[in-house]
Formats: sequence, C-alpha cells, structure tokens
Amino acid sequence: MTVIAPGATVGILGDGQLGRMMALAAAEMGYFVHVFGPEADSPAAQVSHRSTVAPYSDLAALEAFAKSVDVVTLEFENIPTETLDYLAAFVPVRPHARLLEVTQDRLLEKSFINSLGIGTTTFANVDSIDALVGAVARLSAPAVLKTRRFGYDGKGQVKITGESDLDAVWAEMKNAPSILEGFVNFRMEISVIVARSANGETAAYVPVENRHKNHILDITLAPADISAPLAERAMEIAEKIAVKLDLVGLLAVEMFVTEDNQVLVNELAPRPHNSGHWTIEACATSQFRQIIRAVCGLPLGDPARHSNAVMRNLIGDDVEDWEAILKDPASSLHLYGKREARAGRKMGHVTKLFPLGTKPTA
Ligand code: AMP
Repeated sequence: MTVIAPGATVGILGDGQLGRMMALAAAEMGYFVHVFGPEADSPAAQVSHRSTVAPYSDLAALEAFAKSVDVVTLEFENIPTETLDYLAAFVPVRPHARLLEVTQDRLLEKSFINSLGIGTTTFANVDSIDALVGAVARLSAPAVLKTRRFGYDGKGQVKITGESDLDAVWAEMKNAPSILEGFVNFRMEISVIVARSANGETAAYVPVENRHKNHILDITLAPADISAPLAERAMEIAEKIAVKLDLVGLLAVEMFVTEDNQVLVNELAPRPHNSGHWTIEACATSQFRQIIRAVCGLPLGDPARHSNAVMRNLIGDDVEDWEAILKDPASSLHLYGKREARAGRKMGHVTKLFPLGTKPTA
C-alpha cells in the first residue's frame, strides 16, 4: 500500500472525543486533520486544522471533504454506509463500508462471529411480537432484547425476565428490527483492541477488564486479571475477527468471560474505543497513534505497555473533580471540551498508572 506520509491530511468522520484524541495524535505525528460531523464547535473540531459541519447525507459537503483529504477514517461506527461508498469514489476509506455493514447490525455481527467458530451468547432474530414470543420460548428468560442497529451504552435494550409482559416490551421497541440474546452470567467483561494495516500486519493490546455503571463504561483495569491462556485466547479471537473482516484500522472486541472461563464475543467497534484510553499514558504506542499508523500505511507501533493502568470515565458532574485529580502525580486528566455537563455524558477521563507487576486497583 502506498504510504500516506506525514504532511498529508487525514479525514475523520465523527466529531466526538474519540475524534478529538485521534486528531491530537495525528497532529503529534505531523498530519493535518479535517473533521466531518454534524455538530458545531465539537470536541474534535476544536483541535483540528479544518472542520466541516454538515449531515452525513450532504453529498456536496462530502465531495469537498473527500477532495481535501488523503485518507478517510471514522470515530463513530454508525456512519451510513452510503456515505462511505460515496467518499470511496474519491479517496481511500479505512475501514471499508462492507465491514461497517456487518458491525452496524447486531444480527449480522453475531452470525459472522459464529461463522468463524467463535462463540457468542445464543441469539434470535426478532421482527414481530410472534417472533419475540417464539424466541423467548426457545432461549428462555432471562434474556436481553436489543435493537439490531443504532444501540449504544445500553440504549435500545430491554431485559426480559419470566414476569415480563412481552406485548409491552415489543411496544417499547417500536417495531424496530431486534435481536433477543440469552443473558450471560459473566464473571468479567473484557475487551481487546487490535490494529491491522493494509499489508496484513496486526498488533493487539492486552485484554483489559471493563466495569460498567448504568450501562456506561465506568472503569477499565489494564491488564484484566485473567490467566495467560485466557488472555491469549481473547487476543487470538480479536486478531482472527480483524483478519476475516479485512480490517484496515482499529477494532475493539468486547467479550464476556463466563464462570467456566469461556470467552464469548458481545460486540465489535471498528474504531478507537473507550476501553483503550489507558494506552495514551501506559503504552509505547497509544490506540490513537496506532489507528493513524494503520490507515496511513505506516508500520504499526509496539502495543506493549510499560505500566499497568486504571482508566476512569468522568461522566456528567464527575468532571467537577478535576482539581483533586490534578493533585495526584500518578494520574493524567483528559477533558473533552464539552461545554455542558449533562447526566450520562462523557466529559473526560482520568488514567492512573501503576508499576508493571502491581495490581491496578480502582
Ligand atoms: P452492549 O450495548 O451490547 O455493549 O451492552 C451493554 C452492556 O449490557 C454490556 O457491556 C453488558 O454489561 C450488558 N449486556 C449486554 N448484553 C448482555 C447479555 N446478553 N447478557 C448479559 N449482559 C449483557
């Protein structure tokens, strides 16, 4: 693949904190960044050389954007694939639209993962109340009903128990094509972030443990406290999925570790991930530098860590702790430039380093 050398312009679709941290990493590496997203004064636009504020369906704005950049990548996986196809006529788009078609749809995603011989929880397609009743009978409660598309941070999800009124549950989904998943009694939630470049080189970060509060990631502990064979298995799974999806860029693979030490894949995100923020301080190459390397055709960087770490999200009013965080010499504060601290909104994060060989604690 031709190398897109420093001095070139990286186009980023999406304008949130992930785009902001990608743009900062790209700038450190000598690239210019042009961000395309719907929001004015966005976290990413604030730190980028150029920004276009437009909907993802604005073809004239997309064409001008495409002609101003050397490669396009994304920080948000729900970019319409039509947008990616349109851009790809002008400029390389990494990752490619066909990959996004799979990862934007929970049913296609889980079917694809199973087709590789990799486990997920049990699941069933649900597109009507009758299908829901049948699926609950087959999978048995407890189970989780999720919209196939556009869910995040627990949005578009309903837990189903033996007592649930299925008519009411289906009404709540508003007829959205959905998937019923068997409820996993997991011991731990982990994730692996893997990079892949166009020449097939891959590099994975160690598995980390993710703990959620109100369906939103609260803390990430790096590394996850799991056995070496289990960690290896999780990294192999992530690498296999990246290869089979023909990924160029970064893929986060969220997994459940069950009581009997099975690894089941829950979800894929083909972009930098909240559970990889710790890599900024603790690794030779952060996930944000790594994705720039991958999409620009540079050799991948070393994902090895020189410290263990705990990353804590600052959600809503948590951001008011910034002064106390700054007083801790082991902690690094990141704020995303969002002007208003609404409940549930990711305002920043803090990463605390621990020496290798010691246990990272929350
Ligand atoms: P998701 O949007 O699929 O990432 O789900 C958000 C969170 O809900 C996960 O990180 C889990 O904590 C929980 N969750 C999702 N699906 C299941 C499941 N099938 N069984 C148990 N917990 C789940």
